[in-house]
Amino acid sequence: MSLLSVRERPSPNQDDRPSGVPIDTLILHYTGMRTAREAIERLCDPVARVSSHYVIDEDGTILRLVPEERRAFHAGVSHWRGHSELNGRSIGIEIVNPGHEWGYRDFAALQMAAVCDLCLEILARHPIPARNVVAHSDVAPDRKDDPGEKFDWQGLAANGVGLWPKDGTAEPVSDVWKALADIGYRVDLDLPIVLRAFQRHWWQDAVSGELDAGTQRRIGEVRRLVCGEGA
Ligand SMILES: [Zn+2]
Repeated sequence: MSLLSVRERPSPNQDDRPSGVPIDTLILHYTGMRTAREAIERLCDPVARVSSHYVIDEDGTILRLVPEERRAFHAGVSHWRGHSELNGRSIGIEIVNPGHEWGYRDFAALQMAAVCDLCLEILARHPIPARNVVAHSDVAPDRKDDPGEKFDWQGLAANGVGLWPKDGTAEPVSDVWKALADIGYRVDLDLPIVLRAFQRHWWQDAVSGELDAGTQRRIGEVRRLVCGEGA
């Protein structure tokens, strides 16, 4: 049962989920196209073979393209916390924004309110831990930038969606790769690529790909948050 108003816009780009795999990951995206209409058409185009479970327009309208119990094609080659092929175990939400290519802009307040409400409903339906509420860029750091550094992860976490660390709760890490792996990132990529993904989510004012002191401390804070005391 849903209290949200969701409009059906079925996409042919879906299939059965693999059996025996839990739905334990929530992946947030931006559409990265000039208009919402263009994005929705592509997500429903059988030739494109891409889709998501939901699309959220800038006015907060929510479309359902694929039922949650089916697999949508949004993550592509992806990895998080030792799992790959994340489409099989995730729910994907596309959030309308032209993205870095076409004029990246702030996400509208109404849109973010709808994102939050929809995520809360999804989290109530599935065993998705807070640390598995992630960006497309987290799970595909070598290919993807979305939803990007303007996305309000902190605000979502304040409302119970995902995690956000408190400042000053950890020391700068020395074992950076180990910490990034503990959080969930792939570690077989160049460090600046993974750092940029980390920064787009957790250290948004400094998306440089550089291991500055702030980033180094932030990695420690996030690891402490996801792995608990003494991690
Ligand atoms: Zn994406």
